[in-house]
Amino acid sequence: MNITRRTALAGAAASAAALTLPATSLRAAAPPAGKQAPGFYRYKVGDLELTQIHDGARTFPLPDSFVKNVSKEDVNKALESLFMPRDQMTITFSPVAVNSGSKLTLIDTGNGPQAQANVPVGLLASNLAASGIDAKNVDIVVISHFHGDHIGGLRTADGGLAFPNAEIKVPAAEWAFWMSDENMNKAPEAARGGFMNARRVFKDLADKVTKYEGDKEVAPGVTAIATPGHTPGHTSFVISSGSNKMLVQSDITNHPGLFATNPGWHLVFDMDAAQAEATRRKFFDMAAADKLRVAGYHYPFPAVGNVEKAGNGYRVTPVMWSPTL
Ligand SMILES: [Zn+2]
Repeated sequence: MNITRRTALAGAAASAAALTLPATSLRAAAPPAGKQAPGFYRYKVGDLELTQIHDGARTFPLPDSFVKNVSKEDVNKALESLFMPRDQMTITFSPVAVNSGSKLTLIDTGNGPQAQANVPVGLLASNLAASGIDAKNVDIVVISHFHGDHIGGLRTADGGLAFPNAEIKVPAAEWAFWMSDENMNKAPEAARGGFMNARRVFKDLADKVTKYEGDKEVAPGVTAIATPGHTPGHTSFVISSGSNKMLVQSDITNHPGLFATNPGWHLVFDMDAAQAEATRRKFFDMAAADKLRVAGYHYPFPAVGNVEKAGNGYRVTPVMWSPTL
């Protein structure tokens, strides 16, 4: 009998198939997971270990005046260029943790557990835990500004402190603005919610929070820079370790595909739009000069990219996932 190599191989394959087929057909179908993986992304700046923590996303019908100084059609064209649906906006939220080895700092806290049902936000607590960070081990919480999507996560669902052992540091100018009853009383009815929410979150913390000014180191490796306009005391941060440095922009822009590309666009949430635009251009000029890495609270996850000048504005190129730090 003359068995060629080819027929021998074919025979072996056939018997392997015969052996494995019944096992395969008996195995249950893998059920779909039906939910997203935990959202966190880790990287280093010098000796500092940073973790971007996803707090979730909010999707809503695009308001006519989402950008106050351009037409809704211009916004829709920009959304289409980003492969996002027309007439709909999605905003994502990403606080960042900075571990210096001696101190663990969290910058901003997400929407918190009070968020409405069926809106996938307020995920900071679960994603922080998934990343291996115990909320009890957070030493310092630094707040960039008092909008609800940045301070809501300071509280647990039952009103307790989400980071019970942390010193809470807030911009002095934000505290002065939002906690002023005079400012609340003269604000239009529609704008009262923000003042009420600040009072809910900070109700018994007046003597406990530390109020900081710009250009001060607020945590190891974290220096505040005053970037007013979005709110009166809005603050961004320089993260530095040795010769390594990056920026945490907070709300200098919302989605960079809209507002870094078009720095002259005035987001409806920018309280002083002209000041916000001037701050935005100055901040991005600084970032682009050194092609600095920038973390953006409302950037698509992992919410970190490099900034350069492009066209009449700026381009943010997202970092690539890295399997190592
Ligand atoms: Zn925000």
